[in-house]
Amino acid sequence: MVPLHDLHHRPLRNLRLSVTDRCNLRCGYCMPEESYTWLQRADLLSFEESTALVGELVPHGLERVRLTGGEPLLRRDIDQLVRSLCSLPGLREVAMTTNALRLPELAADLRRAGLARLTVSLDTLRPDRFLELTRRAELPAALRGLEAAAAAGFTGTKLNVVVMRETNDDELLDMLDFARERDLEVRFIEYMDVGGATRWNMERVVPATEILERIGAARGGVAPEDPERTAAPADRFRTGDGQRFGVIASTTRPFCGSCDRARLTADGQFISCLYARAGTPLAPLLRGHGARAAANRVVELWSGRTDRGAEDRAGLSAREALAGPGELRETPHLEMHTRGG
Ligand code: SAM
Ligand code: SF4
Ligand code: SF4
Repeated sequence: MVPLHDLHHRPLRNLRLSVTDRCNLRCGYCMPEESYTWLQRADLLSFEESTALVGELVPHGLERVRLTGGEPLLRRDIDQLVRSLCSLPGLREVAMTTNALRLPELAADLRRAGLARLTVSLDTLRPDRFLELTRRAELPAALRGLEAAAAAGFTGTKLNVVVMRETNDDELLDMLDFARERDLEVRFIEYMDVGGATRWNMERVVPATEILERIGAARGGVAPEDPERTAAPADRFRTGDGQRFGVIASTTRPFCGSCDRARLTADGQFISCLYARAGTPLAPLLRGHGARAAANRVVELWSGRTDRGAEDRAGLSAREALAGPGELRETPHLEMHTRGG
């Protein structure tokens, strides 16, 4: 089969598969409100439905699936989904982005099920700040989760840190040290104006250039890694003292030109761009006509795709939050915790 390309000649190689919109944290840049409009549990795709759809997309060039949420470890029996996705011929990798809180119970099962890699989101190493940023006093659980991942045999674990001015930008070096001691690769992410980030403003964004300057000043400079080895979307660098790390400049230097990822919400909405105002519900097709029909719809949608959401946002003269709380309550599919980040 000819691999699928969109109108900017971008293939569909990566799928972020959200398995729940629920979360056990309330990060201020993702879920700052007191109440949310949740997806109906009865509407969630079953593991069989998502696996069948992914299986039908592999022949069109899909290579990797990343499980996300909300918090993916809150979905019951998540290791069973990992196992069935891993059994799909031709799918190269099943990975997961998680806040790590439930890894002490689940890491070993996930590893046995075939999960290849973990990315753990952790924005601070200070307990009081963790509570302030996530509204839950769960730093010890997150740290235990990271230990459990290593004990279960996960290697190449990445640590995602969203950097916010006057919030956690004084921890860049602490994060590097923490990552080095545990053989993790830290990736500093610019604060993004996505759905859910209702309190976003440009002053709180620490641009990638500044992150690099600050690290370089303290660590004997920074040099880009061989571009051949750069894992999009992170630009990888090495400090003067030899530590590799990544910077994801989604806000100030978007990488839409090479974007090969789509998103599927837990209730089966296909989202062609993180900033898309709307998605396309696939559940009716999937349930009424089967996975092949739903995959054909994805092929149609991707073939006509022109999205360059982050570039469009970067071109705005006055930039503010993508959506306010009212709009998000009306349109929960705009939320980052529904789209999966
Ligand atoms: N709960 C899991 C976690 O936090 O890893 C998975 C879902 S979370 C929505 C996926 C990623 O989106 C996390 O790494 C999180 O830091 C990131 N994210 C959420 N809101 C963001 C924002 N406004 N700017 C930058 N990254 C954001
Ligand atoms: Fe939950 Fe992840 Fe969003 Fe934090 S970033 S509130 S852990 S979904
Ligand atoms: Fe891809 Fe949209 Fe993100 Fe650009 S903004 S990198 S097109 S998902």
